[in-house]
Amino acid sequence: VCCAQAAETLTSGSGEGEAATTLSERVVLPADDWSPDSWKEKEAAQQPEYPDQEQLDEALRALESLPPLVFAGEARSLEEKLAQAALGKAFLLQGGDCAESFREFRADNIRDTFRVLLQMSVVLMFGGSMPVIKVGRMAGQFAKPRTVPYENVNGKQIPIYRGDNINSDVVDEKARIPDPNRMIQSYNQSAATLNLLRAFALGGYAAMERVSMWNLDFMTQNAQGDRYRELAQHVDEALAFMAACGIDGDHPVMKTTDFYTSHEALLLPYEQSLTRLDSTTGRWYDCSAHMVWVGERTRQLEGAHIEFLRGVGNPLGVKVSDKMDPQELVQLCKILNPTNKPGRLTVIVRMGAETLRNKFPSLIRTLRKEGIVVAWVCDPMHGNTIKAPNGLKTRPFDAIRAELGAFFDVHEQEGSHPGGVHLEMTGQNVTECIGGSKEVTVNDLNFRYHTHCDPRLNASQSLELAFLIAERLRK
Ligand code: PEP
Ligand code: MN
Repeated sequence: VCCAQAAETLTSGSGEGEAATTLSERVVLPADDWSPDSWKEKEAAQQPEYPDQEQLDEALRALESLPPLVFAGEARSLEEKLAQAALGKAFLLQGGDCAESFREFRADNIRDTFRVLLQMSVVLMFGGSMPVIKVGRMAGQFAKPRTVPYENVNGKQIPIYRGDNINSDVVDEKARIPDPNRMIQSYNQSAATLNLLRAFALGGYAAMERVSMWNLDFMTQNAQGDRYRELAQHVDEALAFMAACGIDGDHPVMKTTDFYTSHEALLLPYEQSLTRLDSTTGRWYDCSAHMVWVGERTRQLEGAHIEFLRGVGNPLGVKVSDKMDPQELVQLCKILNPTNKPGRLTVIVRMGAETLRNKFPSLIRTLRKEGIVVAWVCDPMHGNTIKAPNGLKTRPFDAIRAELGAFFDVHEQEGSHPGGVHLEMTGQNVTECIGGSKEVTVNDLNFRYHTHCDPRLNASQSLELAFLIAERLRK
């Protein structure tokens, strides 16, 4: 469908199909001046320069002809759930790798991250008595914004690694040349990942009766593993009680789970190529994931990323550091969510505990004064990255825990709702973040430091954090 035709279908409100397309759906339609490629008229930060235009066009044409990865209706049901998080009636658990990679693409990696997210969600549901919305930073999280375009290798400047969908992390000038075919490989990997995630979510693996079987081998001699097994036992007892009461244990909510995918919509040609018109609503959706977010480095009001995102119907995230001015956030909300629809916008705050205590209250107050509704989510990772003496990037567990604590404190003080958490984590037993009850020290970092970008919480640290969050939710 060409853009002009699409705009016509969008604006011709004949009244038919009223059941599928409510009036409120219609008012949030992007202005006529939006199209999937209107971002090209704006300045796009953090984009690779492909050396061969023809090769790029060919790859994008191939992507455009491939099926969407998600269905727009799924994105809408996620949006409805996120509206509950905005109102304090549900909690978003969003997590996964900083960057997925071609090299680490294995079924056990996907399963282990999925499994820890399931375990964490049980901890939050049972311990915190809160419905949990599970969203993976998975099946599409490849592109990375970078602070500098080049890095110095033995006195030579070579282009920086930008994520596996763009170039290679191998330290070599040639390997760093952007290759458009990497987008197709990313699409294929995302499709296979999503397929496995859907199988786990719907095929019986995630059934509540298996709660005590979601254990990871290396968690047998581990305090967080013990804590989880104890909680799982209580869940089993509750299930047995429900069965005794005659409650149907075969109901889909007991046998399956909802699991959604998300990534940073950084690489705009890729996102555009998967943007499709939804026949149910006549809206455009970025069908590369259920939820997409804009990063701290690409959220300029006049920039290409905001232009692209304002036109797609997916629930959106915006990363916000202490550089965000309250009035700028108001502007951003008005551009991305002009009808102030709850669930449409999630603001993911990442500024470090101390700064958060100082700066976050005015963001909350300003939006409240304007009557703007968002889901507030805490990313306790990106404001807490430090360099260890051996040069590796790490994050102290205590700093992560402190930022989460500050996030809950500020909401308590302001009478607003903690809507969720956004984590870089893995089900693997990595040594990338220091601290935690099964302590990782700076000397351990070299042992299992596998990340392709930022340091992730390992399974034990992730579970420990879930128990801490559950305690705060219970209060
Ligand atoms: C990220 O989430 O990996 C990231 C780069 O975050 P931010 O845009 O908040 O720096
Ligand atoms: Mn990161």
